[in-house]
Amino acid sequence: MRTLIKGGELINPAGGYHQIADLLMEDGKIVRIGHLPEEIQAADHVIDAAGLLVVPGLIDIHVHFREPGYPDKETIASGSLAAAAGGFTSVVCMPNTKPAIDTAETLTSVLEEGRKSAVVHVYSSAAITRGIQGEQLTDMEALFHAGAVTFTDDGRTVVDSSIIYEAFVTAARLGVPISSHCEDHRLVTAGAINRGEISRRLGDPGISPLGEELMIARDLLLAEETGARLHIQHVSTARGVQLIREAKRRGVHVTAEGAPHHFSITDEKVLEFGALAKVNPPLRTAQDVEAVASGLADGTLDVIATDHAPHTAAEKRLPLAQAPFGMVGLETCVGLTFTHLVHTGKLSVDAAVAKLTIEPAQIMSLPGGTLSEGANADVTLIDPNKEWVVEPEAFHSKSTNCPFAGMKLRGKAVATFVSGQCVYKEAR
Ligand SMILES: [Zn+2]
Repeated sequence: MRTLIKGGELINPAGGYHQIADLLMEDGKIVRIGHLPEEIQAADHVIDAAGLLVVPGLIDIHVHFREPGYPDKETIASGSLAAAAGGFTSVVCMPNTKPAIDTAETLTSVLEEGRKSAVVHVYSSAAITRGIQGEQLTDMEALFHAGAVTFTDDGRTVVDSSIIYEAFVTAARLGVPISSHCEDHRLVTAGAINRGEISRRLGDPGISPLGEELMIARDLLLAEETGARLHIQHVSTARGVQLIREAKRRGVHVTAEGAPHHFSITDEKVLEFGALAKVNPPLRTAQDVEAVASGLADGTLDVIATDHAPHTAAEKRLPLAQAPFGMVGLETCVGLTFTHLVHTGKLSVDAAVAKLTIEPAQIMSLPGGTLSEGANADVTLIDPNKEWVVEPEAFHSKSTNCPFAGMKLRGKAVATFVSGQCVYKEAR
């Protein structure tokens, strides 16, 4: 079947392409891009994309799909539906499942489940240490050959310097990035939210920004020393952004991500949403929110990644101190990015699209992230001006834990194609 996406605003950051054009898909591939002649326009299926952006399928390199172990929160199938609804065609799963993704067998089963039940491409990271306990390295080589695209103990930091040094050396040899959740667990032993005025008001011990910054500094030195590629996850503090900016200037092989909640909202949301606004690293101050946005704007932060972290309603009803960290993010990412970065003039639309497509693809060596003739037809249509109100009950994710309920956003993914198949379409 031939599907024509007609008259949209095509943006392909990898090729510096941005103009009104048609895109023809056939047998799962992009076959033509440009102003196509009448006879080609008689495709089997024509989609009028006037007023819409036509971009490469979005790629999220930081999601928690909770399989194996926690199917009540999310499954690979349900997570993939949430991804498709958010405009994503590829995701990278985190390994803090039960059991953790720390053996080739578990990794293979996750990737197989992805091929079997997901509507998007599912890739996976693997754990740096067995059981994410920080004590014994996994067989990184075997995991790499089984398909791990990066190594991370996400949710925790490997605190022992001798173990993490060995991991960096191995990653350098394999040419695979280490993805680092930066948090010094010896400094940050308690606390549910950012340490500051709000935590004091609520009587929470607070999570010090220093705990994150100490580990960012350490990992930058490890990358510099070993030559390994380092990817720093969900940077949340102004000083953390500055450390990465300085390291990039002196040539360290580091990339980093900003999460939509860290460039959109502050820890004041905890007053309104309680545990629904509990996330790790925590929501910080207005100055930090501004620094994350600036870091994305000047290229210090290369990608936007959601850290989609579903939890059941019962878990999130627990008191702030006991509720788990995390919020869902796949279905609000485009809206938050356009509302808080693009429409405010902080980030060009081309840069925003690059940070959701080609940049993450390159960091994790994934296929996709571009629109070109002969490429797999992973394509997302975005209405940059669609106004909508966040209703978590309408999410495709199994979970609704999100501090954006009721927020008015402008910009939404309205159709998603994976290998030429429509996996999501919004009623217009
Ligand atoms: Zn994390």
